[in-house]
Amino acid sequence: MELDQLRLLHPGWRDALEIIVVAYALYRVMRMFHGTRGRQIASGVVVLGLAYVASWILGLEMLEYLLGFVFQYGVIALLVVFAPELRAALAHLGDAQLGRVLHTMEDREVTEEIFDAVERLSRSGIGAIVAIEREVPLDSYAQSGSLLEAKVSADLITTIFTPYSPLHDGAAIVRGDTIIAAGCILPLSQKTLADRSLGTRHRAALGLTDETDALVLVVSEERATVSVAERGRLWRDLSPLELRGMLSGRLPTRNDSEPAGAAS
Ligand code: ATP
Ligand code: MG
Repeated sequence: MELDQLRLLHPGWRDALEIIVVAYALYRVMRMFHGTRGRQIASGVVVLGLAYVASWILGLEMLEYLLGFVFQYGVIALLVVFAPELRAALAHLGDAQLGRVLHTMEDREVTEEIFDAVERLSRSGIGAIVAIEREVPLDSYAQSGSLLEAKVSADLITTIFTPYSPLHDGAAIVRGDTIIAAGCILPLSQKTLADRSLGTRHRAALGLTDETDALVLVVSEERATVSVAERGRLWRDLSPLELRGMLSGRLPTRNDSEPAGAAS
C-alpha cells in the first residue's frame, strides 16, 4: 500500500508507458466503434453503467443486483456480437501499420480501377453497387452472395454488373485489392427518403453504412449517375472530380459542410 502511494507521488517511465499504451488502445477501440452499430451499443452500456451507479448511490439493492447480472452476462453477449470485429482486430494487430505502408502504391491502383469501373458503368447506364470495406469486416454480408477471391480490376467490376451476368444483382464487396464477393444482399435502410426516385439499391447502400463504416458506391441505372454512401448519408450525382476526391479519402469542399442533395 505504502509503495503504491510512493509510486503515485513519483511517476516514472513505467507510468508514462502505461498511459500511452492505454490511451492508444482506447483510441483504436473508439475508432473501431465510430459510426457503426457499436456506437449505439456503447451508448447503451454507458446508460446501464449510469443506472448501476445511481442505484448503488440511492441504495436500490434490487436494481443494483439485477444490473450486476446484466453486466456479468453482458460481457459474454458483447463478445458474441462483436466476434467478427474482434477477430479482425486481433488479426490486424501488429501488421496493420506495416501493411499500410507497403500497400500505399497498391491502394492508389485499386482506387483508379474502381473509379474507372464506376465511370464506365454510369456512362453505359448500368446499375451497380460496390461496398468498400474499411475497419469493420463485411464478411457476414459477403456470405449472402457468391464468394470470390479476385483482384480488383475495372474490367472485372464492369463484367460483374453487366445485365444478365449471374452476379449483376446485388452488391460487390471489396477488401483491400480483392473483390471478396458479388451478388450480395445488403441491409435496407428504413429511413424515409425525401426523394422517391431512390429505390432499393440506394437504400441498401444507406443501410450498410448505417451498420458499418464501409464506403458504398452506387451507380444508378435510372439516372446514370454515381452516388457515394458513408455513415448513413448519401452524396448524390457526383461529378468525376468529386468522386475521385471521395475515393482518395478527401471530400470536395462543396460537400464538406452540407452534402449536395444529401438524403439523411
Ligand atoms: P436505380 O437508380 O439504379 O434504379 P434504385 O435505388 O432505384 O436504383 P432499384 O431500381 O430498386 O433501386 O434497383 C434494384 C436493384 O438494386 C436490384 O436489381 C439489385 O441489383 C439492387 N438491390 C436491391 N436490393 C438490394 C440489396 N438489399 N442489396 C444489394 N443490392 C440490392
Ligand atoms: Mg430504380
